[in-house]
Amino acid sequence: MFSDFALHERLLKAVAELKFVEPTPVQAAAIPLALEGRDLRVTAQTGSGKTAAFVLPILNRLIGPAKIRVSIKALILLPTRELAQQTLKEVERFSQFTFIKSGLITGGEDFKVQAAMLRKVPDILIGTPGRLLEQLNAGNLDLKEVEVLVLDEADRMLDMGFSEDVQRLVDECPNRQQTMLFSATTGGSGLREMIGKVLNNAEHLQLNQVSQLNATTRQQIITADHNQHKEQIVNWLLANETYQKAIVFTNTRAMADRIYGRLVAQDYKAFVLHGEKDQKDRKLAIDRLKQGGVKILVATDVAARGLDVDGLDLVINFDMPRSGDEYVHRIGRTGRAGNDGLAISLICHGDWNLMSSVERYLKQSFERRTIKEVKGTYGGPKNVKASGKAVGVKKKKTDAKGVKKKSAAKAPTKRKIANRPKTDALSLVSKDGMAPLKRRKPEAPAAE
Ligand code: AMP
Repeated sequence: MFSDFALHERLLKAVAELKFVEPTPVQAAAIPLALEGRDLRVTAQTGSGKTAAFVLPILNRLIGPAKIRVSIKALILLPTRELAQQTLKEVERFSQFTFIKSGLITGGEDFKVQAAMLRKVPDILIGTPGRLLEQLNAGNLDLKEVEVLVLDEADRMLDMGFSEDVQRLVDECPNRQQTMLFSATTGGSGLREMIGKVLNNAEHLQLNQVSQLNATTRQQIITADHNQHKEQIVNWLLANETYQKAIVFTNTRAMADRIYGRLVAQDYKAFVLHGEKDQKDRKLAIDRLKQGGVKILVATDVAARGLDVDGLDLVINFDMPRSGDEYVHRIGRTGRAGNDGLAISLICHGDWNLMSSVERYLKQSFERRTIKEVKGTYGGPKNVKASGKAVGVKKKKTDAKGVKKKSAAKAPTKRKIANRPKTDALSLVSKDGMAPLKRRKPEAPAAE
């Protein structure tokens, strides 16, 4: 129960208003320590309720009578605008019965309006590193009196190249009394280095047992022959699955645009979100999805980072994400706060080995699913290694008449490749699905 925490009654009132009954595991573990003022390093998945785990203790520290604000007391850094906006909303919801004021500084918003907000001095400042530094360099930001610093999704901030910016902002808060660092993954050497620099005698709470991720989300794979076949499967799923809202992930912007175009042509209410979209488009897409006017979002990883949309219960990986962590982030969009979700990955022979690495990383075996209406010919590699990866079949070297060549035969020159007769080539759709590639017909189905 939230009332078991030593939280101010005004915060407990807000928690009750939000209909939060039981603290999530990360909240149960982090809130008491954070209330004691401890530095924390928390590894917890997106959607675990980690925002409240640091916001409530910050508010508890700052709560008090109305007074003139003279300095920023808490700084929360996040990797993306959307995450920062969502965190601001969460802070505002929890602080609704207090006099605590919060402000947001992200790219894509008016610089002068932000400067004016900073002149009023919010108690809590939430933002992304790039724009915060710009405001700092313009002399609009003073972080010297910051007491609590939060680095949320720290692994992602490093992935996105914010390491130096974050360090600069950290250095601007020399009088902080508490630092809390949250990451969805255990991260690499960059994260370890940052932890060493910014945290002081921190308690490490590891709630992210990847093997137990999103227990409420079913994870399936469907094999596919090529990208056009994947498109047919996506159509079938969107037309036949039961879902409130769906997100289709692609690895490239071009493929996201292509799928979006196909969906719109079929009168689906959809939106596309990727790095080339400006802030206005992104806001519109997310708002429409939240309001329910749009039911399908097609997105690349960066664009969808940190999305928290109620009722998002179907995730389709059109392409297999390139790493286990990315997979975790994607399926973290669904099955949030205990709701059921379904995550389906479409697997061509080129996706197979990635998929089996993700299975090993998660220590899970995805459910194999076949849909008879859109069944293709590829059903996985003929032979798999103990690791689950496809056994590659060595190409036999034959001449034009099919006679086996000596092993010393040289690889064909560029000119020879250029002159190769078209009948020798299999036309494939390139990875982004746009330009057709010419490639020699592979002899082993799984070797890519
Ligand atoms: P987060 O991981 O902080 O992004 O939270 C994911 C979602 O879970 C947000 O929509 C929160 O409002 C919601 N949430 C967080 N904690 C709880 C809780 N104890 N009970 C119900 N919902 C929660």
